[in-house]
Amino acid sequence: MKVRVGGILDMSTIDYSGKISSVIFFHGCNFRCPFCYNIALVEGNDYQELETTEVIEKIKKHKNFIDAVTITGGEPTLQIEGLKELCEGLKSMKLLVKLDTNGYRPDVVKKLLDDNLLDFVSVDIKASSDKYNELAGINCDLTRIKHTLEVLRNSEVDYELRTTIVPGANDSEEDIRKVCDFIKPTKAYVLQQFRHEGGTLDKSLSNTPKMERVKLLKLANVAKKQGLKVKIRTEEEGEEIIKECLETF
Ligand code: SF4
Repeated sequence: MKVRVGGILDMSTIDYSGKISSVIFFHGCNFRCPFCYNIALVEGNDYQELETTEVIEKIKKHKNFIDAVTITGGEPTLQIEGLKELCEGLKSMKLLVKLDTNGYRPDVVKKLLDDNLLDFVSVDIKASSDKYNELAGINCDLTRIKHTLEVLRNSEVDYELRTTIVPGANDSEEDIRKVCDFIKPTKAYVLQQFRHEGGTLDKSLSNTPKMERVKLLKLANVAKKQGLKVKIRTEEEGEEIIKECLETF
């Protein structure tokens, strides 16, 4: 079975929390998030069609140096058969497998979990429900995202939900409170920094400044007050766990 792959990163310390992982970038996506900086993975034809066995062979070369493989995109769940075959090959090598997804294919996530092919799942939550279409760039059926969250809650798998905080788009305290209402209960919620070094799908966002860490901390505090386990991710400090609610900023 072939998969469309936009690239493979041999080793990363930032894509799977606490693990060293290779990263496989699937090509193609069913969303058009205006803030997306993986433009080449979403648009255009800059990909290779590889047999899953070829991908596995590439990963094998680094097997002694990695704990895990992160499968990301684009949107990996669009290539269900290849994704499943790839996960099976990686698990047979005793590697941990993390899936990054936009949560729009709950059936695929469930199938992979039922087959014990995933160790960690990270789901992008684009915004609160009233802004989801705007931040996903398509008309979303939110029941599909909710279904994915139910699948994760009903499984034993470790998972996190994460939102890229985009200045002026989903960065108010009210936005974060509404997202928390949408995702509760959850194991972990991550607020990550909007960045645009390589450009963005919506070119007008390429001039938007990078989200400031202090603003992210403030918004994380809003989520923390909702009783969630919260982290932030920034270029400056990497991953930080928000340990307690701060009364003032
Ligand atoms: S940020 Fe949006 S458009 Fe870009 S790969 Fe993820 S889901 Fe697709």
